[in-house]
Amino acid sequence: MRWYRRLHWQTLIAMIVGALTGLVFGEPAASAFGWIGDLFMKLLRMIIVPLVFTSIISGVASVGGGKALGRLFSKTLGYYVLSSLLAVMVGLLMVNLIQPGVGANMTGTVQADLPELDTATSPVQLLLDLVPKNVVAAAASADMLALIFFCIVFGAAVTTLPDGTREVVTKLFDALFRAMMRLTSGIIKFLPIGVFALITKMVATTGFDAFKALALYAVTIASGLTIHLVVTLPVLLIVLGRIAPRIHFANMREPLLIAFSTSSSGATLPVTLNTVEKNVGVSNKVASFVLPMGATVNMDGTAIFECVGALFIAQVLGFELTIMQQVVVIITALLASIGAAAVPSAGLVVIFIVLEAIGLRGPEVNLIVGSMLAIDRPLDMYRTAVNVFSDSCGAAIIARSEGEAEVDTVIR
Ligand code: ASP
Repeated sequence: MRWYRRLHWQTLIAMIVGALTGLVFGEPAASAFGWIGDLFMKLLRMIIVPLVFTSIISGVASVGGGKALGRLFSKTLGYYVLSSLLAVMVGLLMVNLIQPGVGANMTGTVQADLPELDTATSPVQLLLDLVPKNVVAAAASADMLALIFFCIVFGAAVTTLPDGTREVVTKLFDALFRAMMRLTSGIIKFLPIGVFALITKMVATTGFDAFKALALYAVTIASGLTIHLVVTLPVLLIVLGRIAPRIHFANMREPLLIAFSTSSSGATLPVTLNTVEKNVGVSNKVASFVLPMGATVNMDGTAIFECVGALFIAQVLGFELTIMQQVVVIITALLASIGAAAVPSAGLVVIFIVLEAIGLRGPEVNLIVGSMLAIDRPLDMYRTAVNVFSDSCGAAIIARSEGEAEVDTVIR
């Protein structure tokens, strides 16, 4: 196939054309093309709930009995905690090295209002939120954690059914899942058009002036994300999975481009699932277990952001943190990244969890967070791509550990 007929090249070109259109035509371009981006996002969102539903149930049902499920569960959680903790460490290192907040002058910077998002405020609340009061309501409000919980226990229940019945239910969900994947592949064909519109709108509506005061802060976050993307996660791929990072990266190009354009791991999830199975070569059993949960709780990019963002604010206010407080930042940054929803700007909303834990609050803090929000979109794009990449690395590593030798052997 000629290079320009390949989807990822078309998407990259669409991104550049979109950025230029936004830059040259400004606001009018945003209103002319914005709706196309919204439509594309709606198409992606439309398939999340049925896809998660069918993929987890068919995946868990095919894992079989309790022991195998337990093993997969511990591996998955182990990977999430390890990769997110490493991410926070990278953030901590960068913010202490660059010190973006020391001497920063925040007066006169542009501020924006925070979106309203429901976020659990404590670990106990997070646990309680896990169990849906009503499955239909959880699905209707795309409450992913609660939905995932139900699907896992339902799938586990299916494995205990007598032989004849079990096969019928498993086959049914498997067939529904295949149908959802077909639908996903169809929607992905519109990727270049959707990405063009999303990027045009983003460039046309983000004021670049706001960047000046916060440039060093943006650089700190971007360098933390880059180190995690090109050093930490590849090392995990090599050491834990014996996988060539170059191959994994190439196989994951489409979800990465979508994560970057949509700033939402949730909206990217259908494509992540599709790609991790088709290109990376992970079984449905592992992919459907690791990815939906990963999209919701495993956010390495967001973890870096929480840590750098909170310490940046502390530096701006001249607030010296003790070692103990730095430890509190590490733990709460991890929790905040778990609690953040897989939607745009969620990371900035949950930063208050970290700030509150070290006693930073008040109008001055709100003012700084408001300024950070004004330039958040490009940073959100990058951290979402890192979030998605970490999930896919986890799926590949766990699949290898389960004996799936075909994973990431070639670029597909
Ligand atoms: N937008 C990110 C995501 O969906 C979350 C965040 O704002 O950090 O993964």
